[in-house]
Amino acid sequence: MNAASTKRKRLALHWKILLGLLLGVAVGVMINLFWTADTWAGLGVHDPASFLADSLAVREASTAVGGPNEHADTGAHAARFIRFATAFTGDLFMRGLRFIAVPIVLFSLIVGASSLNDASKLGRIGGKTIVLYLCTTAVAISVGLVLANVIAPGEGFGEEARQMLMAGSRSGAEAKIASAETRPDTWQTLLDIVPKNPFAALAQTKMLQVVFASLLIGIALTRIDRDKARAVIGFCDAMTDVIIQIVHWVLMLAPVAVFALIVEVVADVGIDVLGSLIKYSLTVVAGLAIMIFIVYPTALKIFTPVGYGRFFRAISPAQLLAFSSASSGATLPVTMDCCEQRLGLSEEVTSFVIPLGATVNMDGTALYQGVAAVFIAQLFGIDLSLMDQLTIILTATMASIGTAAVPGAGIIMLIIVLQTLDFPDYAVAGGIAVILAVDRILDMCRTACNVTGDCMVATVVAAGEGAIEPGGGRTV
Ligand code: ASP
Repeated sequence: MNAASTKRKRLALHWKILLGLLLGVAVGVMINLFWTADTWAGLGVHDPASFLADSLAVREASTAVGGPNEHADTGAHAARFIRFATAFTGDLFMRGLRFIAVPIVLFSLIVGASSLNDASKLGRIGGKTIVLYLCTTAVAISVGLVLANVIAPGEGFGEEARQMLMAGSRSGAEAKIASAETRPDTWQTLLDIVPKNPFAALAQTKMLQVVFASLLIGIALTRIDRDKARAVIGFCDAMTDVIIQIVHWVLMLAPVAVFALIVEVVADVGIDVLGSLIKYSLTVVAGLAIMIFIVYPTALKIFTPVGYGRFFRAISPAQLLAFSSASSGATLPVTMDCCEQRLGLSEEVTSFVIPLGATVNMDGTALYQGVAAVFIAQLFGIDLSLMDQLTIILTATMASIGTAAVPGAGIIMLIIVLQTLDFPDYAVAGGIAVILAVDRILDMCRTACNVTGDCMVATVVAAGEGAIEPGGGRTV
């Protein structure tokens, strides 16, 4: 077989990931539908949740399985093995991505900021980036608010369904509220951007602090002796390439890991729970779809020469990974790779705009917070005035900036939005308990939107600087 035909046969990465994702959904749904309490009982397992949790601990199977016969015991071992294998593969992949996230922000932002060596260029790119991030976030919340007011997903919600959902996730909701209450106030949050110790910030993955420190170092490099600066910048540049190489290795695991991550999520979400929250979930998904398929393409058309086809083809691995991992922080190395290598944006713009966006720009999260706030208000019969809705736009914009780029962070910031609106405690606790049931699935969707928004802004900024390769980068 010659090289050309080998090449033709190789499936592109995004197709492999998509395949993993679809297979994961199919297997997850099958487990969810057919793996019922009776199936477990037949295997001699009477508390499936703790049994599955135990499968990740190194323990003797016999302590958790009170199997009535040998056949049942084998089935339980098989279930335990499948659970272990999917969790192990998913975790291994996520660890690989997290391993990369901090060094790539550090090295690439230093290179990015130091290459913007005249103050006016830094100001121009920095200013455009921040303004675009704020504008797209405000548009996203407005889309969410309009949809939630028109569709009214919380009206006519059955009392029985509400009680069932609240009972199911009460303890989870209490934990989320407790972690929202331990958050520092706005001024302290701003102060916290400046690390007391940059090495501690790196070690503890404090992304906003790492971004700040890297920008500061990058800008300082433009002010010192050129020869000395060149050595440091050369080192950071080479390290960025090293990390990108590691990204490619980690990505080889992506299709299998995505399958594993999705099976776990889909198998865990009850179909009945999805049913009662379908109107709410569809409102969020419709809003995200409007952002991804209408708002961003329109901005691309107006401000850039990049067509939608090229844009989506280039960034699809990042979107699919964001969806599977529900973490824009973990997806960051892949997002950067897609923008630079596949979309053809310059390293200068990519390494500045994307790490900043992953940390502060969360359009999907903001949109979801808008819909969720209106949904909870409708659920508990709370009237939201126009002023309240404007407050939502303002607080959700700020909240999305402060949201960590990790799974489930958005719902914690939502609690702060609800508290700012003076929702009574029972509505905050009850509302969070209700929507928690579908939060993971919606987290996956909003994270895909967050990452798409970052890529769109990077493309617009790059177009303004004439920093896009005409034909695009490589598309594997
Ligand atoms: N998981 C989201 C992200 O990483 C944040 C959130 O909305 O929870 O972008």
